[in-house]
Formats: sequence, C-alpha cells, structure tokens
Amino acid sequence: MSKKLLLKDAHIEGIRYFETYRKQGGYTAAEKALKMTPDEILEEVKVSGLRGRGGAGFPTGMKWSFLAKPEGVPRHLVVNADESEPGTFKDRYLMEFLPHLLIEGMLISSYCLGSNVSYIYIRGEYSWIPDILEEAIEEAKAAGFLGKNILGTGFDLEIYVQRGGGAYICGEETALLESLEGKRGNPRLKPPFPAVKGLWERPTVVNNVESIAAIVPIIDITGAEYAKIGVGRSTGTKLISACGNINKPGVYEIDMTITVEEFIYSDEYCGGIKDGKRLKACIPGGSSVPIVPANLLLKTVNGEPRYMNYESLADGGFATGTMMGSGGFIVLDEDQCIVEHTMTLARFYNHESCGQCTPCREGTGWMYKILKKIEKGEGKMEDIDLLWDIQRKIEGNTICPLGDAAAWPVAAAIRHFRDEFEWHIKNPELSQTQNYGLANY
Ligand code: SF4
Repeated sequence: MSKKLLLKDAHIEGIRYFETYRKQGGYTAAEKALKMTPDEILEEVKVSGLRGRGGAGFPTGMKWSFLAKPEGVPRHLVVNADESEPGTFKDRYLMEFLPHLLIEGMLISSYCLGSNVSYIYIRGEYSWIPDILEEAIEEAKAAGFLGKNILGTGFDLEIYVQRGGGAYICGEETALLESLEGKRGNPRLKPPFPAVKGLWERPTVVNNVESIAAIVPIIDITGAEYAKIGVGRSTGTKLISACGNINKPGVYEIDMTITVEEFIYSDEYCGGIKDGKRLKACIPGGSSVPIVPANLLLKTVNGEPRYMNYESLADGGFATGTMMGSGGFIVLDEDQCIVEHTMTLARFYNHESCGQCTPCREGTGWMYKILKKIEKGEGKMEDIDLLWDIQRKIEGNTICPLGDAAAWPVAAAIRHFRDEFEWHIKNPELSQTQNYGLANY
C-alpha cells in the first residue's frame, strides 16, 4: 500500500473546514516553518527532491532558487490551478476537499519566497471551487494564519483567488500571468522567465496546486524523510487521476514504487479494465503526453516491469518518450478506436491554440482535418505520411508547449498504431461502423 502524505485525512468529515483541519495537526508545519529562515525552508525543498507536479517535473527547489530578488521590488507566488489537461482532475480534488492544505502550503512557500501577495489562478470551469477556497482563506485569516503580522512574526500575506475564463492555454505559466494581469491569455516569449519578470514584470514563481500542497509534508517530516519515499529522482508521493475504461476511476496517491500493472489491475487503485475487456493502450500523464500501447506500458523494452514514476514512464522505446506529465492516467480498452481518439485530441488542441504561431495555428487545424478524413474512411495512404510530416514541423517550433502537446499524440499514435490508420484507409465501408479492435499489441 502506498504511503499517504497529501490525502491521509481526505476521508475525514469536515476536513474542508479550519477547525477539523487544525484538529488533525493542520498548520503545525506552517508554525514550524515560520520559525525557520527562508533559506532553511528552501534547503528542505531542495533536499526533498520534489519535482513540479503540473507536468514538466522540474525540480521545485531549483525553480525557487532562480527567483530574482532586486531591492524594493515585490515578489509573487502564483498557484496554477488552471487544471485543464484532459484526463487530469487531481488538483480539483485537493482544492475541493483539502483547501487548507493548499493555503498552508502557500503560507510556507510565500514566506520562503518573500511574497506578501499571492494568487490562486483557477480554471473557469471549476465554478464551485473559488467559494470553497475563499471561505478557507477567511477562516485562516480569522485564525491568524493570513493577513498582517502572522503569528507575531512580522510576515504579512494576502491570498487572492482569480477565476480564469475557460481557456486551456491559460495553464501555460506565461499565458496565465497575462490573464491574471487582465489581458488576453497569450503565452509570452521566454526569456525573460517569470522568475525574473513575471506578474506585472515582478519576480514570480508559478507552481502547480499539488506542488505547493506537498510543501506541507516536506516541512512536517523534513525534506530528507520525504526524499526517502519513492525511488530515484521520483521522490515523495504523486497524485494520479485515473479515468477511462477502468472499474474504479478516481484520484489516487501513490509512492511511485508501484508498477503500472499493479496500478491498473489492483483493487486498491483502478480495479482492472471495465467489463473484463483487454487493455489496449494508456496515456499516462494527461492528453499531451504520447500514448503507449499495452505491451510497452506493462513492460519496458528490456522486459522489466514498468513503474509509475518519472524515469520508468519516460524510459526507452517510445516514439517521443512518454511522461508522468500531469498525472492524468487515461486507460483505453480493446474497443477504443485510436484514430478517433487522436482526432478528438487534435480537434481539442486546434480549438485551444491561441493562434500566435503559424505551425501551431495552422498545423493543428490540418492535423484535425486529415484525421477526420481518415476516420471517416475517406483518407489515402499518403495522408499518414503527411500527418507525420505536419507534426514534425510543429514540434519544437512554437512559442509555448501547446504545439508539442498537439504534435506528440499524433506522432505516438502513428508510431504505435499505424496498422489501425491503414485499416481505416483500406476499409472505407467498415471504418464508420466497425472498430479495428485489439490488434497484436
Ligand atoms: Fe499559441 Fe500554439 Fe504558439 Fe502556444 S504554440 S503560443 S498556443 S499558437
């Protein structure tokens, strides 16, 4: 059984409210942190090995150490709660059921970074959650954990919740900052990075909800103890939101030492494939990461078990290397059509492209049109190579990672499931009514 750090109290009735959270030991990590120096906290975060839980997996301590500290210029912490990646809903769970864990994590992080005004930027579709967060902020303020001179330390902190307008691109950190400033959410060219010029051109750290929540147990048990959980550079615990053709969709906390097979088939987690069907493929880290066929998902190319961690999921033999990503684990059974699935994703990315870069703006549209044609049984064999060519021209040639996110699923689908694309083209009369089914994957 995986160790629980973030969700250990999630089952307790009323844990959403300050009184219950406090009774369970809530805010003791903040009390401890406020007696430390910011540099001591930073060192704990570095030692913990925590990697950003939003998708990129960049070491959080290192990110914090990049924050510029020019004299007299305010700094900010911005929590990225714009959780829009298809298949990902673990931050929603944290905010809905454990809002004080996030606020306590923000208090510690803001103190460490020197931010007196911090923000939670939350996706517009999570319409009911800002009220939960704002209520928790008021409770924390009434208890002296927010506002002026927190616990007599002289440290002040205000937290504001900003609702997004429902654009996927605002999950990209610089687009988020543009939106938070009241502008259209267009990603910025980097450099300068937000750590130097972020919100209102001030040094800013943008971190995912789960990353900031994880600061609480790191301070609580120490960075060194946190680093002992997990394996290699995949330290601590990770929230996974599991969905698709499984018996038990939901949010699970894992310690990254379990195998993918255990995660899918164990009753503790996904509980196996729905209706006793066979596993066809999986997207292990949200829709932007490459799809992986069952044979490579359960075992590495060397025949070793594949583990639910950053290194093992990205290891060897994949089209473009899949990733732990945002932890949105999407399972596809033998009945799922890969061409239709890829087409749906292409439509999504085309719709969500902000339009600034030609390869993304035009390429995502072309990929969607070609995939639609193939899926309808109107494609030609050369369309597969055309698709491949377009995705190659998008990857690495855009301002922000949305371009890559649109290209990778197409590349991986062609690489691993080319037979299925060809089947649609060779069987135009069948492709609308039948499924290619489980090939020899
Ligand atoms: Fe906009 Fe796409 Fe360019 Fe990102 S890659 S800046 S979403 S056009």
